[in-house]
Order: sequence, then C-alpha cells, then structure tokens
Amino acid sequence: MFDALTRQPDDPLLALIGLYRKDERPGKVDLGVGVYRDETGHTPIFRAVKEAEKRLHETQDSKAYVGPEGDLVFVDRLWTLVGGDTINRSHLAGVQTPGGSGALRLAADLIRQMGGKRIWIGLPSWMNHASIFKAAGLETAGYPFFDVPSQTVLFDTMMSALQGASAGDAVLLHAGCHNPTGGVISEAQWLEIAAVVAERGLLPLVDLAYQGFGRGLEEDVVGLRHLIGIVPETLIAVSCSKSFGLYRERTGAIFAVTTSSSSADTVRSNLAGLARTSYSMPPDHGAAIVRTILSDADLARDWKEELETMRLRISGIRQSLAEGLRDRWQALGAIAAQEGMFSLLPLAEADVMRLRNEHGIYMPGSGRINIAGLKTAEVGDVIDKLKN
Ligand code: PMP
Repeated sequence: MFDALTRQPDDPLLALIGLYRKDERPGKVDLGVGVYRDETGHTPIFRAVKEAEKRLHETQDSKAYVGPEGDLVFVDRLWTLVGGDTINRSHLAGVQTPGGSGALRLAADLIRQMGGKRIWIGLPSWMNHASIFKAAGLETAGYPFFDVPSQTVLFDTMMSALQGASAGDAVLLHAGCHNPTGGVISEAQWLEIAAVVAERGLLPLVDLAYQGFGRGLEEDVVGLRHLIGIVPETLIAVSCSKSFGLYRERTGAIFAVTTSSSSADTVRSNLAGLARTSYSMPPDHGAAIVRTILSDADLARDWKEELETMRLRISGIRQSLAEGLRDRWQALGAIAAQEGMFSLLPLAEADVMRLRNEHGIYMPGSGRINIAGLKTAEVGDVIDKLKN
C-alpha cells in the first residue's frame, strides 16, 4: 500500500543546512538558518531557562498527564506578556500548543470547525503558513504584501485585498518581525487594518513568533493590542521558540479573544477537543520553564535583559549592513528600519548560487537572510561579496 505514496520534496532550508555543514571552507557564512545566533555563531540557552530547568528538576514530582489545554498558569502568564490588560480575561480562551506551528494548525482547525473556508495571506510569507492552512482544509488566497526591489510594504494593495474579502474570511497577520521580509506595519496602519477587518466582518489570525526581537517586548505587541481593542473576535498564535530560545521544546499557545465568557468557554472546549484528536496534549517541559520564569520577578528580569541584548545585536547588524549596502542598492538602506531576524535581498537565484559557490555564503534561493546568522566581524566582508 505504501506504493501509493510519492516522494515529497525535501525542506529546502534543511537541505541548505546539510550543504553548509559539508562545506569545508573556513570563512563560510550561514544566513539560511531560522534561529537566533550570538556573536560566536551559537544558539544559546537563556540563563533564566537554565535556572528554571534546575528548579524544575528539583521540585517537579510527577510526570502524570496534564490535559489537552496544557499548563493553564503558563497560558495565563503568557497572555499577560502578549495582551497585557487590554481585554476582559473572562472573554479569553487560551490553550497551550506544541510551538507556534501547533497554534497555527489548531487555529486553522478551529476556523474549519466553525465553517470558515478561506484565509488571506500577504505574500511572501513564512513558507509553512500556506502549507499548514491547506493541510487543515482551508483555501488560501494570496495578495502581494512586499515589493522586494524597493523593499517596501505594499500597504495599499493589502488594504484593497482586505476590502475585497468576504465576511467570515480569515486574515493572517504577522504581529511584527515579518518573516521573510522584516517589513514593518506602523501603528497608524494597524489602526487602519483593524478598522477594515472589523467593518468587513473578517477574522484576524495574528502570528506572534518574535516578540522582543523587533522594537522591544511591549512595542512589538502595540499593533496587536490596537487590533484586539477594535475587532470583536481575534485569534492569536504565539510561539515561545525564539523569545525564550525554546525551539525544540515545542512551546506556544493559541488564544481566542471572544465577546463573552460563554463564547470563550465554547471556543476553549473546541480547541481542547481538536487538540485531543490531533496530539492529545502538548509537551510540558517548555511551558513549565516559561511559567517558572514569568512567575519569578528575578528570572523574568534576567530573561528580559538577555532578550534585549539579542534584539540590540540584531539591530546593530542591521545598521551596519544597511550602511554598507545602500551606496550600491539604495533600497537596501531600508534594512536598518526593518525588524526581526529576516530581510529579503533582491537577488536572482543565480546570484544566490554564485555567493554560495564562490564565497561560501549560504541563503535560500529566495534571497532571505537571517541577520542573526552574521557575526559583527564578518559584516564588512559579506557586504563586499554581496556587492561584487
Ligand atoms: N510563525 C513564524 C512567522 C515563524 O517564523 C515560525 C518559526 N520559524 C513559526 C510561526 C513557528 O514557530 P515554532 O513552531 O517553531 O514555535
């Protein structure tokens, strides 16, 4: 029966990691990875995470099942970080998920369960967005979100797409640190988006995967908080992979902002039911770590400080790259004001291959670069090679 299957294409980013590993040239640079790296090229474990793990090791006395909703103290503390006190918590349904990907899938399953058929996605977007939504049975509709040569967000195009959407359609929005473009939506633009989403009766699904990597922990959720203040119902998929460096621990949550406590209760029971038939319950360890950190003022302070050093490192490299590249490509001056780990360079596939083959600079064919893949000392050299 397995004969009925056809081989699926390899994940291009994983294939790129394999090629990079095999390259024996000493000056090779990996701009393809999707994880934060420090000045030594390492993806560190946060100090606060290590300390929380120590405490858990000492105090945890059972591995009995937790339940499909996961750790509800984690869910509550995480919401404080995301939503602050913008809404009445009795109107909120939150469930722990296996990472941001698990949250997006549960959101898509929920949309299907309530009869939703279509989700709008600004392009380009993180590759897995469309795959996850399609796998859940949603139709995806794309609109151009970003112009690579001019490095600008196509806000008017986005607004016309939203104005043309039908009531009941879902709309994917990146909370910030857009993957793969780094393109920024201003506060005023968030207000415009919220107005049209509310007016057209659309359901926003906000993907929050990089809180703290853009302008700051609070600043990165300003737009999202405006949105939930204006639109009656919103889904928010949160990933703790980057913000807490917990990638492989699969830690995240899906939140639904609803209009009443009974609606929240119904949504919660549906999310729990969907989790139960998919993976039963989320893995505990990462959520226990985040709960421990967010429940202890000293650990939380230390975590915020370390996150801030990461943010500043990325922002510093952005400034140097923009400075070095703007005399050759004026548009790339925009890299300085973009946010998060990624930017999308206006390179043809042949340029990407030349950089890889001649200089050992690795990035996917799309030209997406992970700014955190660069060490400060390498920036000048990489700029020279990009220009030639
Ligand atoms: N959303 C975006 C935009 C992402 O870039 C990622 C991870 N790269 C995710 C969601 C999911 O993250 P995870 O499942 O690893 O928590």
